[in-house]
Amino acid sequence: MELLESRSIFSPATGFIQRGGFQWTCNPYLGCTFGCTYCYAAFLPQNRQPAEQWGRWLVAKKNAVTLAHRQAKKVAGQAVYMSSVTDPYLPAERTLMLSRGILEAMLPFQPRLVVQTRGPLVVRDIDVLQDYRHLRVNVSIPTDSEAIRRRFEPKAPPLDQRWMALGQLQAAGLAVGICVTPTLPIQNVTEFVKKLTHFAPDVLVCQNFHDAGGRFGADTGPAAWQLLSEFGWNDTHYRQFVDRLRGQTTVFEGAAGFFPPPGPTPQPTWACESRA
Ligand code: SF4
Repeated sequence: MELLESRSIFSPATGFIQRGGFQWTCNPYLGCTFGCTYCYAAFLPQNRQPAEQWGRWLVAKKNAVTLAHRQAKKVAGQAVYMSSVTDPYLPAERTLMLSRGILEAMLPFQPRLVVQTRGPLVVRDIDVLQDYRHLRVNVSIPTDSEAIRRRFEPKAPPLDQRWMALGQLQAAGLAVGICVTPTLPIQNVTEFVKKLTHFAPDVLVCQNFHDAGGRFGADTGPAAWQLLSEFGWNDTHYRQFVDRLRGQTTVFEGAAGFFPPPGPTPQPTWACESRA
């Protein structure tokens, strides 16, 4: 792992994250050791390594927490997405604690925060997350099958650990999202629909695989396409799964599901006047 002195820790949101209503993204790391086969971040033009090396390198922004303390004021009350091109709860985070330090630095400024992760380590920071007034923790659960998960994202944490983390986050009173994104082949649609519905996340998102000819933020690597065809999973299967889920609960699809938690409700003028 490389350590890097970074110039900034909050970047203006772009692409579908910006369109979803976020002003900022926050990435404590570059690269991602979870190395999912379908990850769009593998194709980032600024990556120091070719896409085939995705998952095998990691750069930690060693001054991330110092920067966050210096720059957090600019995200006050605004929508922040953490993280867009890495996972904030990689194994390295256990000792480096960059994500935790950033969360602590932003806290006094109360941004509207979405934490997006596959890492059960997120539960370590429940004490800090509970002090955010406008927060959602999104956990990715792209399939019901551990065997399928292992093929598409062999270095990411097992699904049962993610479900356990979701349970702890919800029990702690935090808003949670489940991202079935990208939606991988599902082994038992009936049981998975039941499990998702029974858990009742605050937001539930599905997303089909799509090919955008290599455009950043929209594409999927060839290895993932190959696996999809190996499992015989296609658009019709995806659509049938989403329709079944929709019959039971609210489902957002694709970019429409990546929006910030609502901000404070504006006080009507008469309420302010009556207090004056
Ligand atoms: S965890 Fe997220 S950022 Fe990391 S490889 Fe998987 S999809 Fe990409």
